[in-house]
Amino acid sequence: MQNQKSEWATNESPRIMSYTLANFRQLPQIQKLGEEKQFEMEVVGNVLPFKTNNYVVEQLIDWNNIPDDPMFVLTFPQRGMLIPEHYAKMEAALKKGDKKEIQNTANEIRLQLNPHPAGQMELNVPTLKDGTKLYGMQHKYKETCLFFPSQSQTCHAYCSFCFRWPQFVGMDELKFAMKEGEQLVQYLQEHPEISDVLFTGGDPMIMKARIFSTYINPLLEANLPNLRTIRIGTKALSYWPYKFLTDDDAEEMLDIFKRVVDKGIHLALMGHFNHTVELKTDAVKEAIKKVRATGAQIRTQSPILRHINDDSEMWAEMWKTQVQLGCIPYYMFVVRDTGAQHYFGIPLIEAQRIFRDAYKKVTGLARTVRGPSMSATPGKVQILGIAEYGGEKLMVLRFLQGRNPDWVQIPFLAKYDEKAIWLDDLKPATGDKFFFEDELNEKMKVIKNQDYPES
Ligand code: SF4
Repeated sequence: MQNQKSEWATNESPRIMSYTLANFRQLPQIQKLGEEKQFEMEVVGNVLPFKTNNYVVEQLIDWNNIPDDPMFVLTFPQRGMLIPEHYAKMEAALKKGDKKEIQNTANEIRLQLNPHPAGQMELNVPTLKDGTKLYGMQHKYKETCLFFPSQSQTCHAYCSFCFRWPQFVGMDELKFAMKEGEQLVQYLQEHPEISDVLFTGGDPMIMKARIFSTYINPLLEANLPNLRTIRIGTKALSYWPYKFLTDDDAEEMLDIFKRVVDKGIHLALMGHFNHTVELKTDAVKEAIKKVRATGAQIRTQSPILRHINDDSEMWAEMWKTQVQLGCIPYYMFVVRDTGAQHYFGIPLIEAQRIFRDAYKKVTGLARTVRGPSMSATPGKVQILGIAEYGGEKLMVLRFLQGRNPDWVQIPFLAKYDEKAIWLDDLKPATGDKFFFEDELNEKMKVIKNQDYPES
């Protein structure tokens, strides 16, 4: 199905067609997979979010490579994403066909999947000086605040591994949302230490330019001396590059980017690319050019994922292609401790080996990338490598970001553990706690009791 150039030529204006549980069985490619596979997808898709689109289906997935195709695994529900016990529960509920029971079973399972890892819900929600809690924002690191516009709580397609999955499954009480750009401005005025605002979601580039400008304009008009960078976390370049090419608001969106740059604010698109396949179409290459022509920069990031990209050759090729296209490799993440981590997760030692093998194969220009990195409760922790001391193997780690900025760049050691897939699995090399644990526990008590403190 790939390379249907005439239909997808960049001078045409394709319209996005979404596929979800409601209509995915209409796809001829899916019909060929048979009823059993379709039902499996339904079981998983009733618990975890599922949405893909015609560009992904026709341009990115190689249907001759099913079930192993990385883009297929990335966007279609896979049976292994639910542990057998959860799968059996949902299968039974679906077979009974009672809608209420299906919903309740789905919610019950979701709550067991650690829907808000790293204390997102209770630890990072900031408060205005007048006491208003800003549930549409998170402020974990001193200089950066995350903003979740209520209008961007979806994406052009959903990644099966996504740690933001609770926002897409209709559990309203789990949803971060905030409407007013004014509250964002007020918070930035109250916190001059913040230099970076990260628009995230969902995917902020799902918003029409008109809506997006209602968030950006107040920021530009406020002339905030502390605001140096606006980042936009997005997978639109990969899942729907036409957002910057031929959609009816493409020019208007690019114009907003230009206005940000002209204002003297750095605009960074944090582009999610999980596989080199996503960089191969004419459309994505053209979209990258258009975005870069506004003066914005594109930095790229992805988690390392079993079944999708656990391959050093692929990473090396992806970083090289990104540099060739003018993008800056930025992060390799470790899959978070939520959702289907058991399916996509990779032991930290293996992730580090893949990172190192790929890193060795690229030039200095691609070595801007950092990883593998865990966004854990105390901060972003990188697995630097394995050291040997006195005949014993040890894991060397460091903070790239910390709840306390003083933790950053301090190497620390953990016992060698080939099975560990997350920070919580690691044991300190000496003593019974890592150097940051006492302070972290204190900080968490303060944050829980007094909301987000002045930092
Ligand atoms: S595009 Fe980003 S927010 Fe959306 S599903 Fe993928 S990883 Fe999650």
